Amino acid sequence: FDSKEKLGIALVGLGNYATHQLAPAILETKHCYLAGIVTGTEAKEAVWMSKYNIKKENVYNYDNFDSIKDNPEIDIIYVVLPNSMHAEFTIRAAKAGKHVICEKPMATSVADCKKMNAACKAANKKLSIGYRLHFDPFNDQMMRLGQNKVYGNRMDINTDFSFTLNDPNSWRTKKKFAGGGPLMDLGIYCLQGCIYTFGELPTELRAKASTKNSALFKDVEGTMEWEMTFPSGKANCKTSYETPFASYLTAKTEKGTLELNPSFNYDGLSGSTPDGPMQVQNVNQQALQIDAFALNVLNDTNTIVSGEMGLRDLYLIEKIQESAAQNGKLIQL
Ligand code: NDP
Repeated sequence: FDSKEKLGIALVGLGNYATHQLAPAILETKHCYLAGIVTGTEAKEAVWMSKYNIKKENVYNYDNFDSIKDNPEIDIIYVVLPNSMHAEFTIRAAKAGKHVICEKPMATSVADCKKMNAACKAANKKLSIGYRLHFDPFNDQMMRLGQNKVYGNRMDINTDFSFTLNDPNSWRTKKKFAGGGPLMDLGIYCLQGCIYTFGELPTELRAKASTKNSALFKDVEGTMEWEMTFPSGKANCKTSYETPFASYLTAKTEKGTLELNPSFNYDGLSGSTPDGPMQVQNVNQQALQIDAFALNVLNDTNTIVSGEMGLRDLYLIEKIQESAAQNGKLIQL
């Protein structure tokens, strides 16, 4: 592949994840290059143009973004904005005739997810969600061992993804931007992990929200804990912005423990099975995720991390929030 055969990506929202993970990952892909940027911060333009050799005519802001439809160098738009802005920019990207990768959570409501899927379908453009762990060999091993019931038919899962958030100005503490607390941001990985380890959907759930620092977490919960019942077992999940860092998924099987710890990080993942350590290597998850989508576009195949999957997860997140709002009411799914 020379550069003409590579697909051009434009990143929308040049924050932490775009700057420190996605842009460097695009350099590691085989089928893509960073062709453009969309930013609301003028000062970032020159820095990115020189660092990634981006042409001035491929630089957009949120107001002139729709004119990207006239730019044949941009094939894929990658939305990396605060959660509540995902829907608007995914829909505008589809209307501009571009394929879209949208970060997780897909949106802040089921209703918005449906609009996003409909817009991409109407424009005949592909949409995928930034679920990088589907391209990670440790999580892939967990899916394979769990779904094939290699260690028995029943499992009990415990999982936690948490970190301490101290920044009162972060959009993550504001419902208007985040749509919810750590559940939207981190707990979505626990939810995904349970579903792909069982290879099943939950049949019922109950949830409890709590907050220690109510000055910082006025608007969203500080911690969410929830239980789910699956056809083949149970899951206990936790996610928090006010406990020390945790990132693990442990499945107690009939023949011993299957575990990823850490499970949800970008790098340094580690896994063990009743037969010993998992014999796989860490990879650049984002590079593989982006390349897989490029191949979906080039070969007209379906993504394994679709807008339908993003919608499914928002449906379950809304049910978790609904249960928590009703003091842990059991919800049948
Ligand atoms: P940041 O706050 O670091 O960056 C968000 C960027 O969005 C800002 O830098 C800004 O870019 C732009 N923006 C536009 N309007 C606003 C606004 N009103 N408030 C704040 N920012 C605004 O967030 P992250 O990079 O951590 O997260 C962005 C998205 O990526 C989220 O949806 C998050 O869930 C997801 N994410 C996914 C990860 C994964 O592992 N898959 C990991 C981390 C995040 P500019 O200045 O260019 O306009």
